[in-house]
This record gives sequence, structure tokens and C-alpha cells, in this order.
Amino acid sequence: MKISLSRPEITSKDIQSVIKSLKTPYLSLGPRLVEFESKTAKYAGVKYAIAVNSGTSALHLIVRALGIKGGDEVITTPFSFIASSNSILFEGADPVFVDIDPNTLNINVDLIERRISKKTKAILAVDVFGHPAEWEALGRIVRKHGLKLIEDSCEALGSEYKGKRCGSFGDAGAFAFYPNKQITTGEGGMVVTDNSRIADLARSMRNQGRGKKSTWLNHVRLGYNYRISEINCVLGSGQIRRIDKIRAKRGKAADMYNDKLKVIEEIDLPYIAPEVKMSWFVYVIKLKKSFNRRRRDSIIKFLKSKNIGCSTYFHPIHLQPFYRKLYGFKKGMHPVTEYISERTIALPFFNNITGEEIDYIFKNLAKAIKKVKKEK
Ligand SMILES: *Cc1c(COP(=O)(O)O)cnc(C)c1O
Repeated sequence: MKISLSRPEITSKDIQSVIKSLKTPYLSLGPRLVEFESKTAKYAGVKYAIAVNSGTSALHLIVRALGIKGGDEVITTPFSFIASSNSILFEGADPVFVDIDPNTLNINVDLIERRISKKTKAILAVDVFGHPAEWEALGRIVRKHGLKLIEDSCEALGSEYKGKRCGSFGDAGAFAFYPNKQITTGEGGMVVTDNSRIADLARSMRNQGRGKKSTWLNHVRLGYNYRISEINCVLGSGQIRRIDKIRAKRGKAADMYNDKLKVIEEIDLPYIAPEVKMSWFVYVIKLKKSFNRRRRDSIIKFLKSKNIGCSTYFHPIHLQPFYRKLYGFKKGMHPVTEYISERTIALPFFNNITGEEIDYIFKNLAKAIKKVKKEK
């Protein structure tokens, strides 16, 4: 058996609609873009959606549209994919990291206020692994201190917090459509917002700073080429149309894992807060305390030798080489993030993973744990 860490689900209908789109005169900025955007806005429960070529581009446009600039600080989490805090660096502002909650793995809202300074402009929270951040408390903090709120929902399309979908909680949210995400356009991303000013700015900046009424060679502000092709949008529309099915399949995969793995006492299964409905991005287990990084890596090595794709998830952003160099960040600054990141394993996770595959992973995981416990 060979099981990859993730596997996109592209149906023959998806392929047919891509071919169809290639026979139209529109390969960019056409009707498929409009369709993908309006479907996604509707699904997320927001007024505006602006599709771009990656989740990273979406985050960058949000940071820029909010006027965040050099000298500003943005409070964010060190337990995320690098792009969430890089988007702050792109505009010359500084990320201020706040440690995470050991259960949800999202930014610990109780630690935020002590890090707010005169320079703080925004909070950028991430719905890590698809689990929503604590948006109610975050909303309270930003209102009290007059800050902006950015939602990195790149892992959480479809997740719900207190009955509301992710992407809709901040001034603006970002989705991503890389092949390992809930839906994929190959490469792609989306800005979602209820704020027409942010929407207009994002739409202009993704398209070389052209104005609403500008001709092709008229540019009213600094912009980028963050456009996404019609070919990508076709894939996105097809999948957002069947997102309920996709969510159900991924939910079933997580249930099968939970059911199998609950007997392994050396691990903690993913925590889901009671007010949350998950749209699963990845399935990440946490090893108990006695399993340090070395033992975790040894388990991963064993699983890989059995053709099971698995990975560490995430490495703390503050300990990434260029963040250390730039800010002098050191180990020990965010102990919960560091503790967790040494003990996580992402297991194979995709729409159509089978019970037999999960059984094979379970057996080998149990074997691997037994083996490393015997090692010194
Ligand atoms: C995937 C992801 C992104 C960026 O997505 P790309 O499309 O790869 O640029 C940003 N933030 C988080 C948390 C992600 O998981």
C-alpha cells in the first residue's frame, strides 16, 4: 500500500469543464472568475469576493488595503504557515507573535492584550488546521482597542464558529486553493469581505492598480499581477458547487481516524471546541509529553518506510532562520507553540481515503510508537 499525505479530487466533469473553458475566448478576467467569486462569497456569507493567484496574494492585498505599513505592528500567531506573517513583512510592518492555546492550537486570546502597543494596527488570526480561532473574543479586543481584524482562513473554507462560516469574521478574510486545501484550483486564493472599500482596492491591486473605469494602460495606484486564470476558476466553481459533499467526505475520514486511533494512549486526537463545526483541512495528532522531537521524527521515519505520507506541522514561524536573523527571536519565546510543534504528526488526509488505508496507517502508527518506546 502507498498512501500520500494529500490527494486532490479532480473529477472527469472538472476536466471536461476545463477543456470547455479553453475553447472560449476568455482565459483571464472572464465570466468564470465572476462565477467563482460570487459562489464563494455566497458560501462564506460575505458581500464581496476577489479571486487571486494564491492565498499568500490574498493576505498581502488585505494587509495593504488596510493601510498597514512600515512602523506598524500586527499581532499574529507563530503556529501557522509562513505566509500568514510574511504578508505583514511584505508591507514593512512587524509581526508580534502571541503564543497559542494548547487545545485549539490557535492564538491564545488571553495573551493578546498585554502585547498591544501604540504601534499595533491589527490582529491577524489564523483558523489553524480548519479549526476557527476565537472570533468572539478577538472581535471584542479589536473593538476595544480600535484595531483591524484579519482572518487567515486559508485552511478553513466551510468551517463554522457559532453558526457562522470562517472568512466572515474580520474586516477581511483569505482563502487558499493549493492542491492540499479543501478545494483546489491548482494555485489560487480569494479575498472575502463585507467592506466595499477593501473589495475595490483588492480588485484594483490584483490587476496592476487599474481603476474601476480605467482603460488597460491606465493605472491609478501601485498594483500587482495577482490575477487568476479562467482555467483555475472553472476548477474552483466546480468544487465549490459540491463543497457540502467534500466536507462530508473529509468529516467521515476524520471520524474514521478518531474511531481507530482513540485506543492509542500515547497520542491526543484533534481537539474540536463545542461551538465549532469543522471543515477538515488536515488530520494532525499530538504525541504525549514523553515523546520529544527525536522520537516523533523517528515515528515519521518509520511510517514513511511503510509508504505512508506524513509530515511535521508546523515549524514555529519565530524560529524560521530568517525570522531569527531579522528579529533575534530565540527558542523559549513561545513555549506552547514550540512544545506542540515538536509533537505533531499530520497523517494522510484527503476526500476519498478508505477505511482500509486508515486501518493500515493505524496499525503502523501503533507499531512505530511501540518501537520508539523501546529505544533510549
Ligand atoms: C495555504 C496557506 C496559506 C497560503 O496559501 P498559498 O495559496 O499557498 O499561497 C496561508 N496561510 C495558511 C495558514 C495556509 O495554510
